[in-house]
Amino acid sequence: MNHVLIVSAGMENPKKRNSVIARRQQYLNYGALTLATILHNTGYKTSLAHGGHVSPEVFAQSLFEDGRLRGDGPLLLSIPSFYALAWSQRFTGHVKKLLPSKSITVGGRWVVDSDPVWIKSKLPFVETFIPGLVGGEIRQIASQPTAIHVHDLNSRAVPDFNLYHPVVDHFSEFQPSIEASRGCGRGCHFCAEKDIPLTRLKDPDVLALHMRDVMEQYDDQSIRPYVQSSFFAPNRKWADDLATEVMNARLNVKWRCETRVDAMSAQTVASLAAAGLKVIDLGMEAACATQLLAMGKSKDPDKYLRSASDLIHACRDNGVWVKLNILIYAGETLHTHEETLRWMNDHATAIKGVSVGPVVIFGSPDASSLFTQEVQQLGAKLVDPHSAELNGITHIHPGAQMSAEDAEVLSLQASRRFMTKQDYFDLKSFSYYPRHYGRQDFENDLLDCDPASLPFR
Ligand code: SF4
Repeated sequence: MNHVLIVSAGMENPKKRNSVIARRQQYLNYGALTLATILHNTGYKTSLAHGGHVSPEVFAQSLFEDGRLRGDGPLLLSIPSFYALAWSQRFTGHVKKLLPSKSITVGGRWVVDSDPVWIKSKLPFVETFIPGLVGGEIRQIASQPTAIHVHDLNSRAVPDFNLYHPVVDHFSEFQPSIEASRGCGRGCHFCAEKDIPLTRLKDPDVLALHMRDVMEQYDDQSIRPYVQSSFFAPNRKWADDLATEVMNARLNVKWRCETRVDAMSAQTVASLAAAGLKVIDLGMEAACATQLLAMGKSKDPDKYLRSASDLIHACRDNGVWVKLNILIYAGETLHTHEETLRWMNDHATAIKGVSVGPVVIFGSPDASSLFTQEVQQLGAKLVDPHSAELNGITHIHPGAQMSAEDAEVLSLQASRRFMTKQDYFDLKSFSYYPRHYGRQDFENDLLDCDPASLPFR
């Protein structure tokens, strides 16, 4: 059977500020790993290589030299976000230069589905585009990509098997992922998952089993899995059951998840902490009623903020680190932003770290036109009206009183106000820095960073 090579597209530059410490971050493409796992479980010799921040030409050359690019099997390229499109253009061009007959298949639902005609025009060296979420069809894609007839590309159920990390190049440097649910459907206007229904959470006994299995793949208890769900929403009973399963299996694994601030009770947090939860990424976005309503985050901002207070305090009381994601949204003013900062100040002792930045519009001009109109109606202006056509990424000046440059300054100020250097390192090394990368490596890298660009104090 042919070797199937899957490449997770890299990025020319980090999503946010470009610096040595930002370029150290690596993101496991667990969607691509799901496909690689299916192929591996079917008997294919499979490998998944992440482009990271390596130059696409150098990356293609290294795959060519180690022989994997020259194999008879197709090359599958997964493009996880629009930030990876420019890298993918250069990578596919270079692959064709090295091996003109190599067939390239591209997937990555957020990028490929949004506007199939546009994406084809951006990637002229690609033969086949696979839309949607691919599951069982991957076997057909691997053997005969151009003949594929996919019936159920949008199958939403979370696979019941565990991800098999050893197929990833240098897998032991990546923190593992365990997928727990898909979708969300809570309607936040800026979010790709806004209309995609939430699936059922994996059962607690299955999740605990997968944690043990991942620990065995790494032969290491110190792994820190990311329990992947766009909207992790367990109830009290589910959390109690997970704590029991983890205790019975004598697991001592710390893990991380992402959710809304109004998704779980204080008691649920206590049980999850007993089951190993250590870091929670909270899509708070704002603490100002005007902005919460404008972005569709909540219809009842007062209740939303009360829930946020309760959850954040419950996390602090149970030793769970809270990282807040804050969005500088269309229509933002200094006044609305200050309102959010005041709320955060009142909760500062319970906040481990923050990620702050202006909303970004993704997609081709056609795919993004409705959301673009919406943010413009709220007072935002596009930084470059042609960038959607160019690369599918449009930055905004949030409002008449706030330019994109102002938003960047305010983002950095807020990050520094609520995050120390140690907090930043703790959160990044928990999930995103290579597993061997230690505090001294971080300090050494900081010597090469511009202090004015660092998001911590
Ligand atoms: S709650 Fe989170 S995942 Fe769900 S629509 Fe809103 S931002 Fe997206």
